Amino acid sequence: MKTAIVLVLLLCAGLVNAKDAVESKPQVLILTTGGTIASRTDAPLIRGPELVQAVPGLLDYAEIQVEEFSVIGSSKVTPDHWLRLARRINEIYASNDHLAGIVITHGTDTLEETAYFLNLTVQSNRPVVLVGSMRSSNEVSADGPANLINAVRVAISDEAPGQGVLLAMNEDISAARDVWKTDNRRVHTFGGANVGHLGAVDPDGVRFYHRSLQPHTTASEFDVSAVASLPTVLVLSDFTGLDAAVVRHFGELPMDGLVVRTFAGGRMSAGMLAGLASISERGIPIVVTSRVPKGRIVSPPDYPFSAIVSRGQQDNKARILLMLALTRTSEPQKIQGIFDLY
Ligand code: ASP
Repeated sequence: MKTAIVLVLLLCAGLVNAKDAVESKPQVLILTTGGTIASRTDAPLIRGPELVQAVPGLLDYAEIQVEEFSVIGSSKVTPDHWLRLARRINEIYASNDHLAGIVITHGTDTLEETAYFLNLTVQSNRPVVLVGSMRSSNEVSADGPANLINAVRVAISDEAPGQGVLLAMNEDISAARDVWKTDNRRVHTFGGANVGHLGAVDPDGVRFYHRSLQPHTTASEFDVSAVASLPTVLVLSDFTGLDAAVVRHFGELPMDGLVVRTFAGGRMSAGMLAGLASISERGIPIVVTSRVPKGRIVSPPDYPFSAIVSRGQQDNKARILLMLALTRTSEPQKIQGIFDLY
């Protein structure tokens, strides 16, 4: 009652804008995992709450909650982290109807992989936005604070629900499926050779211009709620003059599937072709990807073994898709169908 009287008095005095008085800010949860966005040069990684407190401008946009998921560089992320993160996000959204969005701070080295895994396994239309930085927090013109504020702005945007898992970096909004780290050092590192960004975070608002059409989140068939561990999928790279003995040796490692990174159009060295034939005889699904980032594998050669072709997705994301495909089927034709769809 007292608060209501004070509010009426403040409104009469013009000290509080009527809109601010009745509208509470949207709720956003920031899940922190580590990476350069949480780093200082020559010091341990910054813990989740401290990382968020260092950016008070976040509170202009949203009510912020923080949960520290991990404190690691992203080169130490494992498939087990992906599983736990996907489950945690699904749990949080299932138990909190009022949460507008989730932002995940993450190292940039493997950010695109975590984002793609979540794109295929989060079971909600509500926004999940990944963000990192290329500069440590104590470097001149650190990009972390602005990236984090922009990620929260994307997470609360009316246009973000239903867009799949997103990246917000350097004022660009990108689909998890279509971007990767393209520069070792510069802040404009996330891009893609085939598909552009989905939108932009401008000073006057968040704008989406495109939409990813491949199935994701609620339209994805993958459910990891009961998956204890992901199938083991290894990646083998082709090179000129590769000896088949190397491939056969590699093929003796325990694996449930293999992704091969080879030349343009899916063409392979003689050694790779001969070596893969013996791996395929063991019934191990083999996915062929091109090391060339632009364009698709349109008419692959006739391989002397059963091969699944990843026409547009490069090795690291093809590995994730094969891991998830193997949770549903081990039939090469069905796996090919999954690769053609996603
Ligand atoms: N080392 C960092 C990582 O965790 C690099 C970065 O975040 O930019 O991936």
